[in-house]
Amino acid sequence: MKKISIVIPMYNEHEIANMCYKRINEVIKQLNNYEYEIIFINDGSKDKTLPILEEIASQDNTVKVISFSRNFGHEAAMIAGIDYSSGDGIVCMDADLQHPVECIPQILDTFNQGYEVISMVRTANKSAGFVKNLTSGLFYKILNKISEVHFEENASDFFAITKKPAEVLKKHFRETSRFLRAYVQSIGFKKTTIEYEAHDRAAGESKYS
Ligand code: UDP
Ligand code: MG
Repeated sequence: MKKISIVIPMYNEHEIANMCYKRINEVIKQLNNYEYEIIFINDGSKDKTLPILEEIASQDNTVKVISFSRNFGHEAAMIAGIDYSSGDGIVCMDADLQHPVECIPQILDTFNQGYEVISMVRTANKSAGFVKNLTSGLFYKILNKISEVHFEENASDFFAITKKPAEVLKKHFRETSRFLRAYVQSIGFKKTTIEYEAHDRAAGESKYS
């Protein structure tokens, strides 16, 4: 594994964009022997997210910005990021630092052990609340009953894949209504999970009402 792509969707994240870039850069700069790129996807933000990202990219040529003409949603943004990434390993994570960037070295170790699909699994979901945890638990119970593939219940939009599953996603998973965190678990390849403890949102509010 030579090159790592970090894929980060942003919708109205002007309070966070710079902080997110700084934190990722701190961690990624310390990785010796890896090339890297950071791909930010501006998902039709109505605030200053895009000019901030463009400013960052103008100072740092490891940063690429994809910008949507309107808001297409988190999953469409992740797919675009995966499509444009050139890394041997791709890490998808949220902009608000709820997905700890400190996990990136462990993800790379896990790639180097031969795993191609890594689902990041929340240990505790403090912010989600009782009802959300209960309904999502039920959802996965039913899904696992009807499916041949086992899906991790606490898998998140924080996951990492190598080039091979990324190619499969690019070619064969092009529906407009998607469920990416589950797709990545269903396409085969050697897969595993890593546990992480979700942080609180670094600033701003959830973009889902
Ligand atoms: N996001 C996006 N498009 C949207 C909504 C959210 O790209 O339409 C991004 C958002 O900027 C963040 C990630 O998806 O990087 C997760 O969003 P958020 O933190 O608001 O979700 P929550 O953690 O509350 O589930
Ligand atoms: Mg969040």
